[in-house]
Amino acid sequence: GLDITWAVDWVRRSADVIAEHRVELIRLDRDIGDGDHGENLDRGFTAVVPKLDDLAAGSTPGDVLKLVAMTLISTVGGAAGPLYGTAYLKAAAAAGSESSLDGEAIAKILAAARDGIVSRGKAESGDKTMIDAWTPAVDAAAAAAASGADATAVLAAAADAAEAGAEATEPLIARKGRASYLGERSVGHRDPGAQSTALLLRAAADAAS
Ligand code: ADP
Ligand code: MG
Ligand code: MG
Repeated sequence: GLDITWAVDWVRRSADVIAEHRVELIRLDRDIGDGDHGENLDRGFTAVVPKLDDLAAGSTPGDVLKLVAMTLISTVGGAAGPLYGTAYLKAAAAAGSESSLDGEAIAKILAAARDGIVSRGKAESGDKTMIDAWTPAVDAAAAAAASGADATAVLAAAADAAEAGAEATEPLIARKGRASYLGERSVGHRDPGAQSTALLLRAAADAAS
């Protein structure tokens, strides 16, 4: 199963990949929003990394997820701050105090994260939001776990599905968030939050492999 080392590595890789794609996320958000998504997330993940050194001995993956949640909630702002904050908080609760997470546990954690975003933001599938990356990822993770895949394979399936889901937001009309103000003019642009979700889930899979 995946342990604290994986969780810490996921956060470090998340910070790296968000920093690396900061300009791309800004550009996507400039097309259909206010252009701050890359800046917002980069600020949040940059703030989490030094806090990893303060984790007490014996900390669990759930403790790491909770640390991410608290930091994102206090530093990211905008729509994505509270949405990702809720996602990591629900993920932490689903992880509980387990020190090792198997494929089933990972699938449940991803589902809890997605459910948290839905309960907070009320987006449905097809609304052109981060949910359009999360839900295919959750479904793929559940299918993989049900067929006996280990945690690493479950995360790989989730990351693949999230990337496909992010790409599939391009032809959609935005119905939630700032992009919804554009109506049909949002067509032809990828949703920035769906793209950042795909990046974060790929980081989770890379940390596990
Ligand atoms: P803001 O729009 O406040 O500037 P960000 O740019 O950081 O916030 O985040 C925008 C992203 O947040 C969008 O690309 C979309 O994926 C996501 N988003 C916005 N509103 C919702 C919602 N109600 N439910 C789910 N995701 C949403
Ligand atoms: Mg924005
Ligand atoms: Mg904003």
